[in-house]
Amino acid sequence: MTRAQNASNPAKLTPHLGLKHRNTFGLDAVAELAYEIHSPEQIPAVMSEIAEQKLAWRVLGGGSNVILPSALPGATLLIDILGQEILSSDEEAAYLSVGAGVPWHELVAWTLENNMPGLENLALIPGTVGAAPIQNIGAYGVEIGEYIDRIEAFDVKDHAFVTLPKEACRFAYRDSYFKQNPGRFIVTKVVFKLPKAWQARIDYADLAKQFPANANASPGPEDIFLAVCKIRTHKLPDPKVIGNAGSFFQNPVIPNEQYETLLKSYADLVSYPDLPGKRKLAAGWLIDQCGFKGQRMGAVGVYENQALVLVNHGGGTAEDILGLAKCIRDKVHDKFGVTLQIEPNFF
Ligand SMILES: Cc1cc2nc3c(=O)[nH]c(=O)nc-3n(C[C@H](O)[C@H](O)[C@H](O)COP(=O)(O)OP(=O)(O)OC[C@H]3O[C@@H](n4cnc5c(N)ncnc54)[C@H](O)[C@@H]3O)c2cc1C
Repeated sequence: MTRAQNASNPAKLTPHLGLKHRNTFGLDAVAELAYEIHSPEQIPAVMSEIAEQKLAWRVLGGGSNVILPSALPGATLLIDILGQEILSSDEEAAYLSVGAGVPWHELVAWTLENNMPGLENLALIPGTVGAAPIQNIGAYGVEIGEYIDRIEAFDVKDHAFVTLPKEACRFAYRDSYFKQNPGRFIVTKVVFKLPKAWQARIDYADLAKQFPANANASPGPEDIFLAVCKIRTHKLPDPKVIGNAGSFFQNPVIPNEQYETLLKSYADLVSYPDLPGKRKLAAGWLIDQCGFKGQRMGAVGVYENQALVLVNHGGGTAEDILGLAKCIRDKVHDKFGVTLQIEPNFF
């Protein structure tokens, strides 16, 4: 018997577990050894076992930002740590501690029900709370890093639990210290700070359209939550209906000079302000201009209503998706001289 099984309250180990229903692309994938992690205390024994047996390993949350190969050798840790509690609440802010396995959207709805607004622009993003800081999830002008106070994690390198304050997490556009150090941290809990002073954030064009400036009342958090859910439901394919991982490419950030040059050839180029001297281009627009929207390549394709989303029509593989992604990247690079980065993680 191994150490992980010997420990009290050991992680449940299932050999050859199918993960088709735990990845939103709906890819057929089998984990050689799947460990269900329900509490942080189970992690050290599992990691010791992995180290002793020199196994390959990876962490899986809800599987909404991954491209899984058909076989996942070694260990796959399924993070199912639940639970949330209000640590403190005063006139300034509420502090919430939330387990890494809590479904993200459920947390957003729960905070609103409990009169703690702030996360409403991030409604309906699939996945778990523990994965949210990895790529600093963002939507409609808000990024989660703004609302994180600290992160509790298991540091695999030092075989110890650590707490990283927000400053140490180095949040940036779809980026964080965790993403820059793959395979080092297993997030177990996220502590959020939700300020009591709340302001509607509806500058983002799609969202602004939902709230005409001449309306009598300004929108509250619940109105924004409902508006975001409505826009997303209309714009993005439901993974339960057609496999996908949301935006497949990051919006590329380019120097202003390159942007000005492109603008001379493409007057309708869609872009957003970014850091000084930089401009963020809409990757979906670039892909659409290359004629990919709605196109199919075997079992996979580009979503008909949103060129930024690649879909699995059924029976597609990781190779199919990466093959299509390569065609898109090559064509966008040839036409615009811009390199697209893939957003989902490939194990
Ligand atoms: C329809 C759709 C819409 C989407 N919209 C958005 C959007 O608007 N904005 C946005 O930012 N993203 C969006 N996404 C992407 C995705 O929802 C997020 O990236 C989400 O945070 C992934 O969570 P997950 O639990 O599914 O992570 P997974 O896909 O399971 O994992 C993603 C990565 O995080 C790592 N990871 C997961 N859990 C942990 C943990 N506890 N500790 C350490 N590493 C971990 C994994 O190893 C992997 O590298 C969308 C996806 C879909 C399918």
